[in-house]
Amino acid sequence: MTAPRNAPPPYRGGCLCGAVRYEASAPTVGARICHCDACRLAMASPFLAQAQFQRRALTWQGTTARWRSSERLLRHFCPRCGTRLFLEPRDAPRIGIPLATLDDPGAILPEMHVWTSEAIPWALPEDGLPRHAHGSPLPYRLLAGG
Ligand SMILES: [Zn+2]
Ligand SMILES: [Zn+2]
Repeated sequence: MTAPRNAPPPYRGGCLCGAVRYEASAPTVGARICHCDACRLAMASPFLAQAQFQRRALTWQGTTARWRSSERLLRHFCPRCGTRLFLEPRDAPRIGIPLATLDDPGAILPEMHVWTSEAIPWALPEDGLPRHAHGSPLPYRLLAGG
């Protein structure tokens, strides 16, 4: 199932300086707002709103730097301007894009809040979205065509 309120793909975006540009050619498999300590610090932002895609749906131009923030996650960023970009799990064929880096940052709507147990109280909006104290019990949507 795809999220019907989202604008249709492709989704384009990039970093502040323009050295890295990306395009996602397929619908997202899930968009979430994460309030965990790691995302807050990594993004230097109250939370991270991100959409995940099939890894093969994302292409980019320019070179990212990346670092491993946990056993299973690589975080990419632009080495020139520092904009945080892709979130690449090492244990699934997916990759995440911060919604804030989309050319149209309203094109994809978040579907839930996760890790609200670590949220800054003033950064948890009353938006009616489902909230999960830790990770979501729901997997990302099945990847069409494997
Ligand atoms: Zn940049
Ligand atoms: Zn997180």
